[in-house]
Parts: sequence; C-alpha cells; structure tokens
Amino acid sequence: MSVPTIMPVVPEEVVRGLAASERVRRAFRFFEEQAESFDEEHARVCAIPAPPFGESERAEALRARLVECGLEGAHVDEVGNCVALRRGRVERPLLVLSAHLDTVFPAGTDCAVRRDAAGRMRAPGIADDGCGLAALLALARAFRECGIETAGSLLFVGTVGEEGEGDLRGVRHLLTAGEWAGRVDAFISIDGPGLERITHAALASRRYRVRCRGAGGHSWGDFGTANPVHALGRCVARLAAYPAPQRPRTTFNVGRIEGGCGVNVIPREALMDVDLRSESADELGRLDAFFRRAARESAEDENSARRAGTPPLELEVKLIGDRPGGATPPTDALVRLAVEATRALGARPFLDCSSTDSNIAISRGLPAVTIGAGGSSGNTHTLDEWYDPRGRDAGLKRALLVVLGTVGLA
Ligand SMILES: [Zn+2]
Repeated sequence: MSVPTIMPVVPEEVVRGLAASERVRRAFRFFEEQAESFDEEHARVCAIPAPPFGESERAEALRARLVECGLEGAHVDEVGNCVALRRGRVERPLLVLSAHLDTVFPAGTDCAVRRDAAGRMRAPGIADDGCGLAALLALARAFRECGIETAGSLLFVGTVGEEGEGDLRGVRHLLTAGEWAGRVDAFISIDGPGLERITHAALASRRYRVRCRGAGGHSWGDFGTANPVHALGRCVARLAAYPAPQRPRTTFNVGRIEGGCGVNVIPREALMDVDLRSESADELGRLDAFFRRAARESAEDENSARRAGTPPLELEVKLIGDRPGGATPPTDALVRLAVEATRALGARPFLDCSSTDSNIAISRGLPAVTIGAGGSSGNTHTLDEWYDPRGRDAGLKRALLVVLGTVGLA
C-alpha cells in the first residue's frame, strides 16, 4: 500500500494553481449556471423528513442520487450513514466529504419546502443541514459533468445522528468501527450556510439525564417525605451559581425539567436534561465534576431534611451525550487551505469553535474542518427556518478548492 502523500506544503500556491486550472474554472461556471437545479435538488432532499433516529428514507434518496452521479459502492451502512466512493488515481489520501442527514424536528413535522417572495427557501432543516446535503450533490455532479479527476479519493458521506441525542453516532461509527475506520486521512463536514466560517476547533460537551425517585405522597399529610422536584431544584440552584469562565468559553444549561402530577401531590419522580460545554477539555472536566457532585449533594440534602422513617430518594445520573473536543491547529495544511480558499473567493476567513461531526475526526487525530455551503440562513432549529441560496455558488467553489487542494487534481 502506498503511503498517503497528504497535504500541500504551500496552500497559497495550491489554491492559486487550482483557481487557474481550466477544469476548475469549468466547475466554477457550472456552479453559477446550475443554481436553479441545485435549488430543486435541495428542496427534494429536504422534503423527505429526517427526524432524530429516523433518517433512513433521506439516506436512501441520497444514496440513489450519488449512484446517478457516478459514485461507487453507494450504500447505507450499519448505523444508517449513506456512504459512496469517488475513486481517485490512488486510494490515499482519502478525504471524507460529509453533511448530516438528520434534523432536530420530530417525526410528523411538515417538511414541505416553499419559496417566499424574497426568494428564500423555507422549511425545517432547510439550512441545517439541507444546504450541506445539497452541496454534496452539487459537488458530486460537478466532478462528473466537468470531468474532474482527482489524485487521492473522496468518500461522500451523509451522516446520521449529528444533532442532539444522536451524539455524533454516525460519524463515530464511520471513523471508529465501520469498514472505512482507519483508512481516512482527512475530514470535511459541510454544515449550514456561509462562506467565512472555518470550524477548526471542536467544542466538547457532556449531556446528562438526571432522574430522581421517591415515595411520593400527600402534600399536607405526608409533608417531610423527600421530594424529587425539590432535590432537582437544589441541584439547578447550585449549577446556576457555577462561575463559568468566559474564556475559555464554558456554558451550562438545564434544557428540560419535568415531574410530578399535581399541586398537592409530592411527586414520585422528576427528571431533567443538562448540557455542559467548554472550549477547553480541562474546564469541561471541572464543570462536569462540579455538576455530578452538585447532583449527589442535592439529593443528600433533600434526604437529610426528610422526616424520620420515610424512605430516601434514589438518584440516577445518566450520561446521554459525550462529544470529545480538540482542534486542528491553524497551522495545519487543511485549515490553511480553507483559509486560502476563502480568501480566493473574496471573503474574510473566520476560525471558529463549534460542535459538529468534525469533533470525532479531530478526537481521532485527523485533520478536520467544518465549513459552510454558501448562501445565508436564519431561524435555525425552528419551524420557520429559511435558506437564501444567493451566494451558494461561492460556497461550492470554496469547498471544491479545499477538496482538490487536499486530494490533488489528477
Ligand atoms: Zn448542523
């Protein structure tokens, strides 16, 4: 097997050379001329619902389109990722080009795409990450229709489980357990719109579901019985007082809390979901330890305040999300390529830290960035999400330059 000869030494020169190449210019024109067909393709993909843990229909549609775009071995893998290969002259370097299939919207959400008077496309998930999926398809078409052959190879992937409780399970499987694990040399995720942002740092997060159970009873008659809602309340108060540093940015959120069944009833159960994040692994570790101790002590406080002879509360703290952090250094060739490609398109690159599919690649030691697909958007993660495709072509051009800079033009 050949040793991967990954990454150019001088990204500035590589981008300049690519931008001057006739085949690349042909692709650039293709991106400008085909705007309407990209919008149609985008709308078709987004109209297929992809709720958390329900991405299979959209994965299959993407697979079928990638086959039509001439990719090899297109299939839906064991966990539901859509995976297809565009073979270069050699297998390595192998670059993953991905976008996520899933949306945050539950099954039953109306995903029909409409065009408003201002020319914006409107639908839940239209930008996050509909425009990334549309970019994968536009790039796959450009390779075929503009006759672009690469030195290294490209693995096109639509991942499952990027959002929320999906906990990056699609990309985790791809890079750690699936047939491609250990064979990938670099990773690009196209997630959301825009032309300036280059996410090179992975925001680490930990998520917990805290469940507290007790005997319950009558609010008057059984007063003094340990109360699960009170215990969680004590915990929320402790967490809310945590001195989270602004730098490195560190945040916490109790995003959901429920329990109890009536105003005069001591609840038998209460639960809450907690999200902890930090740009720094050390800070996240500190916050994580603080939170787990706060949960334990809150239950203990409630238990020690209970009336003698009543049963104690049971506490369960379950980890429901664990996204590793890290960074692809700004000096890494992939980041520098992304920076130069952004400049070549006349935009000002902006290095960013966020939680995306790249987290897993970065934590595996692979160079990885997440970039936007061009265009703009608003109201993300709401039913009123919109995407404005003006400027999509620039996002596609930038992605093409980064891809070709990484795997090389044959
Ligand atoms: Zn996204």
